Order: sequence, then C-alpha cells, then structure tokens
Amino acid sequence: MLYERSSRLFAEAEKVIPGGVNSPVRAFRAVGGTPVFVKEAKGAYLIDEDGNRLIDYINSWGPMILGHAYEPVVNAVTERARKGTSFGMPTALETEIAALAVAMVPGIDKIRFVNSGTEACMSAIRLARGYTGREKIIKFAGCYHGHSDSFLIQAGSGAVTFGSPNSPGVTQGTAKDTLLAKYNDLDNVKQLFEANPNEIAAIIIEPVAGNMGCVPPAGGFLQGLRDLCDSNGALLIFDEVMTGFRLARGGAQELYNITADIVAFGKVIGGGLPVGAFAARAKIMDYLAPVGPVYQAGTLSGNPLAMAAGLEMLKALNADDAVYTRLEEKTAYLETGIRAKLDAAGVVYTINRVGSMISVHFDAAPVTDFATAAKGDNETFRKFFHGLLREGVYIAPSAYETWFITDALTYEDLDFTIEAVGRVSADL
Ligand SMILES: *Cc1c(COP(=O)(O)O)cnc(C)c1O
Repeated sequence: MLYERSSRLFAEAEKVIPGGVNSPVRAFRAVGGTPVFVKEAKGAYLIDEDGNRLIDYINSWGPMILGHAYEPVVNAVTERARKGTSFGMPTALETEIAALAVAMVPGIDKIRFVNSGTEACMSAIRLARGYTGREKIIKFAGCYHGHSDSFLIQAGSGAVTFGSPNSPGVTQGTAKDTLLAKYNDLDNVKQLFEANPNEIAAIIIEPVAGNMGCVPPAGGFLQGLRDLCDSNGALLIFDEVMTGFRLARGGAQELYNITADIVAFGKVIGGGLPVGAFAARAKIMDYLAPVGPVYQAGTLSGNPLAMAAGLEMLKALNADDAVYTRLEEKTAYLETGIRAKLDAAGVVYTINRVGSMISVHFDAAPVTDFATAAKGDNETFRKFFHGLLREGVYIAPSAYETWFITDALTYEDLDFTIEAVGRVSADL
C-alpha cells in the first residue's frame, strides 16, 4: 500500500498544527512513520487519502460501535442540522436522550451532558469534591481520565505513549491532591485512606482499564473499592467513557453488578459527535448549579446535532437485545484466531479481553496493572502494527491502547484479520 498523499498531507499539517495532529494519540511517534489521513469511512472500513481500504479496529477510539457512517445517526444529524445547529437554549431532544440514558444505566437518576470525556471526568470530581467537602482524589496509575490537570498524574493512553504521564504545566498544588494507587491492588488503596483520614473525596477508576491496553479488574477489586468508599465516606466514580454502552447497555456497572456514585460517559454516548456526560443519583446531581452550589456549564453542551447523534446511537443499542452478544462473540472469535496464529509463530504474548475491548501485549506475564503493561516489547509491537497496516488492518499506533471492536465487522473481516496476523507474526 502507498501512503504518498497521507505523507504529504502530514507534512503540510505539521506546519500549522503541533505535531500535525489535534490529539497526540493520532501521531505515529511510538511506532514510526507518518499518520494515515482518512478520507471517508463506512461500516468497518476506512478509506484513506491514497485510496487504501483499511479494516478499522480503532473506530474513533470507541464511539463507532455500530460502524462508521451508521445510517440512523447520519440521517438524524443531517435532519437536525437543517433546523439550526446550536441555540444555547433547552431543547426537547436533551430530555429525550437523558431519559433514555437514565433508563439504560443502573443507579442514576439524572445526567448532565458536556462536550467530551475530559469534561465529564473533570466535572465529576468537582461535583464529588463539592458534595463531600473534601479535596483529595485517588486515581490509578495507567488509567486515563482525559487531559485535565488533576488526571495527568501517571496517566495512560497518549500521555504514557509519549512519555509524559506527569505533564509539565500541572501545578504541584493540583498534583498533591491526586493520590496514586496501583490498579488491582486493594491494599494500596486502603493504605491511602488510612494515611489521609477524612480527606479523600472520591476514587476515580476505569472499571475496565482501557488506556494501558485492556486491563480487567481482578475478582473482588471493584467491590473492594465500593466497600472502602462506603466505610470512608468517599464517592466511587466510574469513568465509563470507554466502557459505557460498550460492555453492556448499563456499562461496567451492569457487567460487574457494582453501583458507582458518579458515572462519567463519553465516546459511544455521542454516536461519533463530541459528547460527554456525567450522572448520579438525584441527591448528588442536585449539588450542581443552578440547583446547587457546584458550578458547571457549557455553551455547546447538549448541542442538538450531538444529542441527535447520541440519541440514535443509544436507541439502536437499547433496541437490539443481541448486539452485546454479537460483539462478545465476534471479539472472542478474533481473540481465538489471533492466539492460534501467535502460538504457531512462537511469539511471546498476553491477550487481555473484556467484551469488545481487546489488547495484545508482547510479554508472557499477565498484564494486571500499569507496571506489567509497560513491560511489553515495544519493538515487537512496532513491527506488528506496521505489518498489519501493510495488510490493510488498522490498529491503534501504540501498545497502550485497546482495540475497539465494531458490530459492523463481518466474520470475513475477522478471518481476513486473523490471516493477516498469521503472516505478520511470522516476521516478529
Ligand atoms: C477517552 C477517554 C477519556 C477522555 O475523553 P475525551 O472525549 O477524549 O476527552 C476519559 N476517560 C476514559 C476512560 C477514556 O477512555
């Protein structure tokens, strides 16, 4: 495959956009080479600017769970656009999607929409701090909760890919209120509570971590966090920006049968438009302005195009009983196929998977937290990535990312991918 036009477009982009990209994870710095520029996409496929067709395993980093240019979303957005694209006034559409989200997700009475996952997480901790009157939060190394200051402490995703999990520009004052724990290590969390009595407002966690590859919660870990929050008067915040509406209708809360106090959403909830949201029981949500004292706002929050897209996406997921089963089966099929090929080639690897989130790590040891995720062999990953790209299969250009499986993938696509993995692994 040729990437002539993409390379040229990237060179032009670099002149006027830092690193040529509007989000670092899009750059190919971790794997070498230049990013692929997308021209259009439909279903499971991307068409790039050079006319190559790629099977897409990123899917806009999660939102396109039913495939690109999903017809009902495209139609809804097109129709809404003709009626005006933003008002800064309430619309019936906002109540409609809010009611549907509240019906789909366990343990929430009210939801507020924002414009990104970053905003959702940032607002969730402000609310938790306002509600509890406490300042400190606990986050886990390797978890990513967007790029707001409090979370760029041992963050995952692009922050770790580019070697800046602790970003310059975050003040020490902010950093000192973020306590860091090891994923899947309850004792560690317990110690933090003991060392900071009555100071911790909330634990924020990706209930299935997806920003250091996919790292599932160990048995009892989430329940343990729930108990620790309850016994210490802290709130449990599930960052379900990635897992929400992906692992089940009700997200990880439903899958693991644990109720969080505040839940953050993004990605799927916007159907591919810029949307985030955070939700909780009424007594917590009513701490928000204009009812309560915690301020949070947004000129474009609840934007009609974004809400129209999100509503169609949630409706589709809510109406289709079998969608999560299909996603599970397709991803399991992919996992089995990839394992067979890597085994046959004698490659050392670990695969983690929960539902339609899956990641391949080039290390034999189990990947259970950030330290074990970081042990993966980057050189092997680099070859794997470029090998698959040459085969027409597009995975994230970083060893610290999950693959997002879309229901638009057919079993032929999966077989094609597995065969590609077979050819690529022969050279690893
Ligand atoms: C993507 C992501 C975010 C940030 O969402 P943006 O829309 O990129 O701001 C936050 N938390 C998790 C778990 C994510 O995967």
